[in-house]
Amino acid sequence: MAEAEIIAVGSELLTSQRVDTNSLFLTDQLNALGVEVRRKMVVGDDRDLLTASIREALARVEIVILTGGLGPTEDDLTRDAVAAATGRKLIFREDLRDAIAERFRRMNRKMAEINLRQAYAVDGAEALPNPNGTACGQWLEHHNRVAMLLPGPPHEMKPMFTDHCVPRLALRLPAQVIRARFYRVAGMGESDLDQLIAPVYTNYTNPVTTILAAPSDIQIHLRARCTTAAEAEALLDEVCPPIEALLGDRIYSRNGDALEAVIGAMLVKLSATLSVAESCTGGMLGQRITAIAGSSKYFVGGFLAYSDFMKEQLLGVNRQLLDAHTAVSEEVACAMAEGARKHTGSTYAISVTGEAGPESATGAPVGTVILGFAGPDQPAEARRVQLPGDRTRVRITAAQTALDFLRRKLS
Ligand code: ATP
Ligand code: MG
Repeated sequence: MAEAEIIAVGSELLTSQRVDTNSLFLTDQLNALGVEVRRKMVVGDDRDLLTASIREALARVEIVILTGGLGPTEDDLTRDAVAAATGRKLIFREDLRDAIAERFRRMNRKMAEINLRQAYAVDGAEALPNPNGTACGQWLEHHNRVAMLLPGPPHEMKPMFTDHCVPRLALRLPAQVIRARFYRVAGMGESDLDQLIAPVYTNYTNPVTTILAAPSDIQIHLRARCTTAAEAEALLDEVCPPIEALLGDRIYSRNGDALEAVIGAMLVKLSATLSVAESCTGGMLGQRITAIAGSSKYFVGGFLAYSDFMKEQLLGVNRQLLDAHTAVSEEVACAMAEGARKHTGSTYAISVTGEAGPESATGAPVGTVILGFAGPDQPAEARRVQLPGDRTRVRITAAQTALDFLRRKLS
């Protein structure tokens, strides 16, 4: 498989004020061509360091992409460094000078003397036009390797890469088809999930399996690369069923949809409505559910009942229940869900109450979260979970776990 390295050039990228985002775009594009990114570097405006970095990259991989450092100033060193690293000269190119001069003319500006620096190209390089800036790009083939010199500003770099580099790369690379499968999983941690499915996916280098984890929401990507779509699909048909069998109903999405979208679709199908009663999540459930376009078809509203008093006032939770069991109890979670359902007339209601920390108000350990569910067919039901992490993490995970609890009740 073809491999690439990306070098982001610019001292500003070594400050806390700027992030290298160009390489994320390039990685996506390269992956789609079947190219693996082996390493990314951020190198400041330092001639020797940059030259050494380019030399190293060219020694290791066949595709090296540089972004930035093509401006007209002293500290724009990419051209010089590529020339030095490949032992080639920089050549003054009249065609490039004319293109820059023409751009200045069009913008009714006078070309500064220093812009002539941008008319130099590495000997043997093809110039890549830049309709969005003065720095032209360069495509340099060198001993079976290719180096691309692209401008730093993303709005210049991206079109140059897609319009001029992708077609040239496609000619060099073997024809490849990529087919992917995608799962989103709730209700387990990353390490548990990995332990469960690693015995399957580690048997295969193709498809490549990637696991991306966020608090109680894990995404699994499987990407197969083959010469034909049928081969790629066949590979996925071999690896995916055992993974799906191991994960079972913990898989909530196969198309990338978020949990709130999956629940929305279920409620629409059931012609049912939903309300929420939130304590420790402080509105996160309502926020997520209403972020889905069309949620007004099934979501009637919610209650943000943070104090015991508001749980009584808004949801009609019995004072004796709160005194006897505290707000963080199965009894109160059920009463909250029932209250939400009764006060809104919704088909279903879910509730969340818990201790997000750092201190506990009720004596329940920090991370204790109780979820409630009320529906038309059976008495309200609660589920107690113990969630890890700090306040932020507990709250995010509580919202996710509540939505997953609802999903399971609906299916
Ligand atoms: P210019 O002609 O504008 O000087 P250049 O090719 O020299 O172009 P830089 O000076 O390195 O590019 O970068 C210009 C701007 O582009 C930076 O200030 C930054 O905002 C953006 N930029 C540069 N590199 C990156 C990167 N890797 N990711 C995201 N943005 C970048
Ligand atoms: Mg610059």
